[in-house]
Amino acid sequence: MTTHPTVDARAVDTAARLRAAGLRVTDSRRAVVEALIERPHASADELFAVVARTLPATSLQSVYNALGDFVDAGLARRIEPAGRPGLFELRVDDNHHHLICSQCGAVEDVDCVVGAAPCLTPSDAHGYAVQVAEVTFWGICPACANAGSAGDPAVAGAA
Ligand SMILES: [Zn+2]
Ligand SMILES: [Zn+2]
Repeated sequence: MTTHPTVDARAVDTAARLRAAGLRVTDSRRAVVEALIERPHASADELFAVVARTLPATSLQSVYNALGDFVDAGLARRIEPAGRPGLFELRVDDNHHHLICSQCGAVEDVDCVVGAAPCLTPSDAHGYAVQVAEVTFWGICPACANAGSAGDPAVAGAA
């Protein structure tokens, strides 16, 4: 029999995450952590929409503030794909990379294949002590690739 965490257990967990990061526990911060659990790689606007469902009085600014605090405290990571709003996630410190669909914006995590961070070695580090390597792989996700061929009139007309 599988056990699902109760709402209370999850609330304790989000509070514990905040405390572990040295942050004061507030309702809006907890709601933002829960939104990040529900929607990894979401923008601040998307997270605000999730938070507003449970805390309608929350402002977009307070979500931005919470996210800024989380990033400063190392609780969350901000990734900034070129030409997109910044995306936030709770998966930090493992130096993983991302695959992003250039059509629909879907984001997938890509684990490092080589040991500890950084998992890429520059051909010339110019004397820098390299700590992090961030790679964004851009491409077309399977859903968009399938939609592209299904949308082709020559193919769709056959059905
Ligand atoms: Zn796509
Ligand atoms: Zn990620």
